[in-house]
Amino acid sequence: MSVNSVVSASKPPVPQIQKIPIPPLLGASLSELTDWVQQQEQPAYRGKQLHQWIYQRAARSLTDITVFSKQWRESVAEIPVGRSTLHHRSTAPDGTVKYLLQLIDGEIVETVGIPTFKKWGKNNRQAGNSEDLERLTVCVSTQVGCPMACDFCATGKGVYKRNLARHEIVDQVLTVQEDFGHRVTHIVFMGMGEPLLNVDNTLSSIQCLNKDVGIGQRNLTLSTVGIPGRIRHLAKHRLQITLAVSLHAPNQELREEIIPSAHKYQIEELLAECRDYVEMTGRRVSFEYILLAGVNDLPEHAHQLSRQLRGFQSHVNLIPYNPIQEADYKRPNYERIQAFVQALEKHHIAHSVRYSRGLEADAACGQLRASNK
Ligand code: SAH
Repeated sequence: MSVNSVVSASKPPVPQIQKIPIPPLLGASLSELTDWVQQQEQPAYRGKQLHQWIYQRAARSLTDITVFSKQWRESVAEIPVGRSTLHHRSTAPDGTVKYLLQLIDGEIVETVGIPTFKKWGKNNRQAGNSEDLERLTVCVSTQVGCPMACDFCATGKGVYKRNLARHEIVDQVLTVQEDFGHRVTHIVFMGMGEPLLNVDNTLSSIQCLNKDVGIGQRNLTLSTVGIPGRIRHLAKHRLQITLAVSLHAPNQELREEIIPSAHKYQIEELLAECRDYVEMTGRRVSFEYILLAGVNDLPEHAHQLSRQLRGFQSHVNLIPYNPIQEADYKRPNYERIQAFVQALEKHHIAHSVRYSRGLEADAACGQLRASNK
């Protein structure tokens, strides 16, 4: 018998016990939190306190909750609330703040806080004080990266990693709220990722943001490039949120050129789902149309778009392209944008031009791309 075999015979290998992660509390409703405290042999009113500390006081750990006894706090200290950690923060001159948040597995996600100040009006380009804040919008991400690979979008040029969990979506809103020291009033699901590819977590985060964080459904906007069947699926929930659809082209051929996923989704089918959405929810749909110079910004494109949307309860949001390093597109000049607008006006198509905020901090639409800077 060799020395080695004697050693191995006397010390059997220790079996590896797999640690099952404990689900975080963030994202849970008042009744779920009440059930949970009762399972921990605590009185039901502790559920309400926990709810308040998580959603209103932005507790990051159960040990922070000083209304709980020290003994109990210590016994549940391992239960995660589910907050991210701030990895990087940058502010643009217009007051827009971009955050890179680190998740529990080390992935980085981007979120943007967009303040609108009373003094300066809606299109202000100057930062003001937090007491002058009229509106605080958060642009949330639903995925780490995005698999849709739209040709004009920085997120689509990066690597897609995974869906975000419900608590990781809600956390972004609490982070902005905490940082600004002001209630978030509006949320746009226009950050990294395609919300309708992560439909369950997106819907449950909407439920939580509405019921637990207290943001009205009409102040929530979900933006999608369209996934076959999912707009109808969303309509069945009969939410009062605003649906924004990234149309970006007036015909199938042009749409396929700039949005690879359009190959599997005919524009007629997408518009038919949008019509059903209007009928089922009673809410008008907003169509986003990015203006790319010389690609989709000619008056003839506007005429074609108007024909597509004739009789449709909708609103067209024109977004002049925000430049990204990885693409050669150009933003059209003012005259080109005006010519497009006039063509829409001729057809009585409701529209607005959305100049993105946060351009100076690379925080504008389409410029989000998780990096470790
Ligand atoms: N995946 C969803 C939401 C994320 S993108 C969607 O496609 O709608 C949010 C919005 O920003 C979309 O309308 C998107 O087309 C637009 N966008 C992407 N890149 C852009 C860019 N470089 N300039 C302007 N808007 C852009």
